[in-house]
Amino acid sequence: MKHILTMAAICLVVALSDDLVMAQPAGEPVSKVCREGPRAREIEIQKIEPFKVFDNLYHVGPCFVSAWILTTPQGDIMFDSAQEPFVDKVMDNIKKVGVNPRDIKFIVINHGHIDHAGGAARLKEFTGARVVATPEDWTMIEALNGRPNNRDSDKPTVTPKRDMEVHEGDHLDLGDQHLIIHTAPGHTPGNLFIEGLLLKDGNRTYKGIWGGGGVGAPGLEGAKQGVINAQKLNAVQGVQVYLMTHSWEPPDGYPGGGIHERAKLLVTRKPGDSHPFVDAASWDARAKRSLETAQSVLAQEQAKTAAPK
Ligand SMILES: [Zn+2]
Repeated sequence: MKHILTMAAICLVVALSDDLVMAQPAGEPVSKVCREGPRAREIEIQKIEPFKVFDNLYHVGPCFVSAWILTTPQGDIMFDSAQEPFVDKVMDNIKKVGVNPRDIKFIVINHGHIDHAGGAARLKEFTGARVVATPEDWTMIEALNGRPNNRDSDKPTVTPKRDMEVHEGDHLDLGDQHLIIHTAPGHTPGNLFIEGLLLKDGNRTYKGIWGGGGVGAPGLEGAKQGVINAQKLNAVQGVQVYLMTHSWEPPDGYPGGGIHERAKLLVTRKPGDSHPFVDAASWDARAKRSLETAQSVLAQEQAKTAAPK
């Protein structure tokens, strides 16, 4: 009897991994299942199909960490590179959406953690693109070289040689896109976000931002930097689309659902419906909240320093 129960349990697990949608407990969004909790470690649920988000933007990454491609008439820009063992699927996805890999001119790495930078070497070879990161995070990317990765432990990570470096305020211009780079040290020393993406939907164009993690490092100096980061984020005006680097942000997604909940709405969208990724109000609330949080963290750190020993 015990044996039969075990078998049934195994069959159930297998059936569930076949279909991510089926696998959700009631109310658990796909974006959260693949990003947080025990199922996020499963390899197969990450290998999702690519999708078009705007006329000039595709999602080609695995479920939990985004890889976006912004197309222009003069070549394309890729944001983040995912990691093994998902890079074959990412390459496949690029071809599936009809992007010529050789048209990709830049691969921008949000920060030097493996889930963002781990695919960069193979994707550089595949596309011929320049790999772009801050100098601080290039040091992290170089340090990943030869290290086992956290999802595919048999294979040592291969990272590209230090390629293109960007700094606060640098511009990245390609075709009709004039992007502005910002650094927000904290999560890593050279974590970045980018403003100025122009996202096209029929005859409408929306202003997008990519990335936006702004938390400072621990301690008083980190807390001060956290406030500067949040101020930079709030200084970006008129953001209508927030392109997240991960499918889900705690505690409640974006809100309004993570990437894959919004993607589902794209499928059922009718002519004249608003675009599910256009959500200025959620962005504004998020930016405001990030500043309030950063200020309260700073106040706590200052109180610690001021407290008598
Ligand atoms: Zn990270």
